[in-house]
Amino acid sequence: MALDRNAVPNDLNAFWMPFTANRQFKKAPRMFVAAEGMHYTTADGRQVLDGTAGLWCCNAGHKRPRIVEAIQKQAAELDYAPAFQMGHPKAFELANRIIDIAPKGIEHVFYTNSGSESVETALKLAIAYHRARGEGTRTRLIGRERGYHGVNFGGISVGGIVNNRKFFGTLLAGVDHLPHTHLPENAFTKGQPEHGAHLADDLERIIALHGPETVAAVIVEPMAGSTGVLLPPKGYLEKLRAITKKHGILLIFDEVITGFGRLGSAFAAQHYDVLPDMMTTAKGLTNGVIPMGAVLTTAEVHDAFMQGPEHMIELFHGYTYSGNPIAAACGIATLETYREEGLFERAAELAPYWQEAIHSLKGLPHVIDIRNEGLIGAVELQPIAGEPTKRAFQAFLDCYDKGVLIRTTGDIIAMSPPLIIEKEHIDQLIGTLGDVLRKLA
Ligand code: PLP
Repeated sequence: MALDRNAVPNDLNAFWMPFTANRQFKKAPRMFVAAEGMHYTTADGRQVLDGTAGLWCCNAGHKRPRIVEAIQKQAAELDYAPAFQMGHPKAFELANRIIDIAPKGIEHVFYTNSGSESVETALKLAIAYHRARGEGTRTRLIGRERGYHGVNFGGISVGGIVNNRKFFGTLLAGVDHLPHTHLPENAFTKGQPEHGAHLADDLERIIALHGPETVAAVIVEPMAGSTGVLLPPKGYLEKLRAITKKHGILLIFDEVITGFGRLGSAFAAQHYDVLPDMMTTAKGLTNGVIPMGAVLTTAEVHDAFMQGPEHMIELFHGYTYSGNPIAAACGIATLETYREEGLFERAAELAPYWQEAIHSLKGLPHVIDIRNEGLIGAVELQPIAGEPTKRAFQAFLDCYDKGVLIRTTGDIIAMSPPLIIEKEHIDQLIGTLGDVLRKLA
């Protein structure tokens, strides 16, 4: 029987949706049934411009032929190979291709299936790295306020989002947090703020409090995406690098959002010219099409584990789906699409147009800040007194009704379109948001 692609299930009860207002959604569902290029198709047949690259992941847009074909072909050729003690060529090929575009000094790839798993992997690697080198006292981890590092226990511990932490008990110990990098005096700055590098100095205080010999790693998003596009002030990341290096502490960049072209370079580490010891990635690695993540490391981190008898497993960590053949094929086709279409360069070229477009919203009702970098931007709204998040959520619903997909976090509207976006789409996206803001209560 042919499937009616406009059909939606009558009973939406069984699926407990993640990070969703389930009851609100199920009363008025917003369903996508197809996607191509810059657009989604809704169940009622409308076209919606994708202003968010799905969830910051479809950097090459949707239904890209090379990716679709690679997945189909791989499924028919080798569907699965055991991830432990066995291999298949595409996992090695993809790792080489990732290293080709990674910053010089990053040499190894450990596969995961998501950003959250990449974070857990990197945190475990950091602690085990020090232990392998005879510094087993280094177990403490330092994150940052308003950081998002996924939803597993390690990630919510180093993360700095109150709602993601406070409901989940007492496993969050052994962790400190740097202050976030959002300073009110930097409101409406275009791109990276000049002021605020001093915020990194707090790391010296935290290290002194515990002793450097107890600290394993510092993890930050080079540019914090999920809590509303918080940029690193000029000189800030350089300071974090200098302080961590001085005390023998590993620096981890969580590049789950910033990786694969979002800022106009392959990775934020290149955009900001600061080399971490490890980088966590996911999302754009496979254009969001098949779940896959990866932790990228320096040779120094990797080589610390390559000791002992050669027949012994060096690292007791990994996932059934690490380097899964279909995900690997998808990753190769994705990186090939980025390269062939010059999408990272395209993001850099479009960034000034994007910047001017988004900052044109300054002065509209409720707008208290606008931030941008690469093809990423945020518009912060004054919350309704006593009803935080409600105003931005209404803007999201109104934009959706008018055929544009944005994202909200608290009262911040975040946008991160696919890197294939055209100027007319930018005009439509920002124009629609402007119309919505003008009418918003
Ligand atoms: N780290 C960062 C910086 C992210 O933005 C995200 C997701 O948005 C994650 C980790 C978690 O990724 P996932 O949802 O794939 O587990």
